[in-house]
Amino acid sequence: MRREPFGPTGAAVPVVGQGTWNMERDDRAAAVAALRAGLDLGMTHIDTAELYGSGRVEELVGEAIAGRRDQVFLVSKVLPQNASRAGTRRACEASLRRLRTDRLDCYLLHWPGRHPLADTLAAFEQLRREGKIRAWGVSNFSLEEMERAAGIAGAERIACHQVLYHLEERTIEHALVPWCVAHGIAVVGYSPFGSGHFPGPRSRGGRVLAEIAAVHGATPRQVALAFLVRSPGLFTIPKAARAAHVAENARAGDLALSAEDVRRIDAAFPRRPWRGLPML
Ligand code: NAP
Repeated sequence: MRREPFGPTGAAVPVVGQGTWNMERDDRAAAVAALRAGLDLGMTHIDTAELYGSGRVEELVGEAIAGRRDQVFLVSKVLPQNASRAGTRRACEASLRRLRTDRLDCYLLHWPGRHPLADTLAAFEQLRREGKIRAWGVSNFSLEEMERAAGIAGAERIACHQVLYHLEERTIEHALVPWCVAHGIAVVGYSPFGSGHFPGPRSRGGRVLAEIAAVHGATPRQVALAFLVRSPGLFTIPKAARAAHVAENARAGDLALSAEDVRRIDAAFPRRPWRGLPML
């Protein structure tokens, strides 16, 4: 599994990690086993949020990482409505309790909200000084919002930006990815399989993925993930509650696409014109 420095933290984080949204709907034992299998395969970046299952997913993640916390790069998120200065602290402490840990590797604001950003970021900095979080980042921020965050705290304090990124939604490539890369901020693409809408095998794009996959002895999904992490600073966090899916996704972390592969995928899934920041 290829690892890359995670923004200014310098932590070596696997380019393919594990998402957990909606995992409370999955068979709990299978989901816990899938997360553990992912850790065994090097997918040690686990992404969760207080939002997911109203805390139940953090509890499930806590169970999955019990006894192996030190192997995990653990990320959770505060809801915008909780992200006042005092509320951020309360939310973080509640997440730590559910996750049965004393620290997060990175703590994110889930999306911009009504509380002043300066208050949220001040709370993040305080939590960082206290060792409750190692670093912090943001999610679903436009370029203007990124610039505002950088103006308040300094771009070098922002560890990552987590944004929607899959083959049929490449909007972030226009300006957000270049801006983050220029400032040394990790870009974590969420919903890499379109949250359940992966290109079908009979579609034009699906056929291109299958042809490239055949050459590499890989699968179309592995090719898609490899494309999404094709340059330094890009990470992806597919969600899989089945061990077989986890195993397939993990192998993408070692798949190197050729320049010609990238050119063909680029042509089959063209970037659409800029229409504002996409969100799920
Ligand atoms: P996704 O990862 O694009 O797709 C998940 C779906 O793909 C699940 O149904 C999963 O099935 C299936 N799948 C996974 N691997 C597969 C494989 N190898 N073969 C076939 N099917 C496979 O969707 P997502 O959950 O929306 O996004 C990923 C993560 O990003 C989330 O879980 C969350 O952590 C994060 N996220 C963040 C935000 C944000 O606002 N910051 C928003 C959305 C998502 P099984 O589960 O049955 O294995």
